[in-house]
Amino acid sequence: MSRIRLAAVLGSVAVAVPLAGIACLRQSQGNPALTEVWDPEPRVVRPGDAGAPPSDAIVLFDGANLTGWEHTDGSAATWVVADGVMTVASGSGAIRTKHGFGDCQLHIEWRTPSDVRGDNQEPGNSGIFLQARYELQVLNSFGNRTYANGQAGSIYKQFIPLVNASRGPGQWQTYDVVFTAPRFGADGAMTAPAVFTVFHNGVLIQNHVELKGPTVYTGQPKYVAHGEREPLMLQDHGEPVSFRNIWLREM
Ligand code: MG
Repeated sequence: MSRIRLAAVLGSVAVAVPLAGIACLRQSQGNPALTEVWDPEPRVVRPGDAGAPPSDAIVLFDGANLTGWEHTDGSAATWVVADGVMTVASGSGAIRTKHGFGDCQLHIEWRTPSDVRGDNQEPGNSGIFLQARYELQVLNSFGNRTYANGQAGSIYKQFIPLVNASRGPGQWQTYDVVFTAPRFGADGAMTAPAVFTVFHNGVLIQNHVELKGPTVYTGQPKYVAHGEREPLMLQDHGEPVSFRNIWLREM
């Protein structure tokens, strides 16, 4: 029996013979099949095994090379790649993807140095800039206090993470990000803000926060119109922070 026909039968039973203890049947009126939606059927995606990307992901870094990356002046990316990991070459500058992205789901793994130097904003500082503008902070925030809207998992200087889910220095950590790009009108005015939801090591730390504008170090953020698709950028803040297994799904 098809699901539609079975539902139709159950619907008629519910009206004619109320069954004690089956609340959903007792309460239903009419034909429940009328509220079933069969199309469009979500396409099939094969989940990745053991942390590997799902089948429809764009792999931005698979551990082999920095082919898809460049410095912000367009020169070849010179961060260090070894043992399947990329590491900030301190002083070389930020790197960004050669391609741009809009709304997306991002997975990225990062590790701050086990050799902890300094405190506050120093140890393990880097950053993940969606659309090269909106920073999700990377920092060693395991037993290292700094301003709350600048610790690991903050949307830098805008949103404090809900909790501190940090692992210690030298350990791999994950961010899983749902990012909605801002929209701009023909006159350049922002019509819908950038939105972040972030999980840190599987823990929800940012829940659909609406950004006030691009990340700024000093003063208040203010939106400036930009393209629909912009690069993902990783910050060189002078610390040898490492990254691996970076992938993204466009939405
Ligand atoms: Mg940073």
